[in-house]
Amino acid sequence: MRLLLVEDDPILGNGIELGLREAGFTVDWTRDGRSAQLALETTGYELAVLDLGLPRLSGMDLLRGLRRSGNDLPVLVLTARDTVQDRVAGLEAGADDYLVKPFDLAELVARIRALLRRAHGRATNTLSYRDLVLHPDSLSVVRGKDTITLSGRECAILVDLLEHQGTALSRARLEEGLYGWNEEIESNAVEVHIHNLRRKLGAELIRTIRGVGYLVPREIV
Ligand code: CA
Repeated sequence: MRLLLVEDDPILGNGIELGLREAGFTVDWTRDGRSAQLALETTGYELAVLDLGLPRLSGMDLLRGLRRSGNDLPVLVLTARDTVQDRVAGLEAGADDYLVKPFDLAELVARIRALLRRAHGRATNTLSYRDLVLHPDSLSVVRGKDTITLSGRECAILVDLLEHQGTALSRARLEEGLYGWNEEIESNAVEVHIHNLRRKLGAELIRTIRGVGYLVPREIV
């Protein structure tokens, strides 16, 4: 789950970046509106956390441009001003949710998870597939009486595959969700995570489509 964080305050930005990483997200952090625009044009994100007061291009203008171009990326706005007019303006510009500074990191994480859930049309924070129930918040899978623990990256890959059942996702596509800009990509990382997922959850769960990628077969209910 790769997120874009746009925040020009270095202390706050650093705190949010660390908090989101700890919660299992991959985070790219930009400090001004133009860099954020460029990042959005070139990288696939699941969600953006956007400060409104930014150098070079305001968060509001960035958001308006994004929506004008038909981009429906979930956007959570951070604002220092808690007035009704500001909230209405933010929502009208296309924000999906907002938080007023100062806020609690736990609340930010909970709101991000709720937005991602909504974006994928899920009513709950778990994903079920056959006899498995995946709990992304606790990086675990429950099967009957067993609880199987996943790493953050194993969990991210499994969520991605379960949300696109029946569709093969390429290694490059899966990799993009796993690494931020300043993280070094380990070679064969996706293969290693898939191997571990099969070891933990059964070899038949994830199919390899030669030359294309990996898929979880669509569940026939
Ligand atoms: Ca700011």
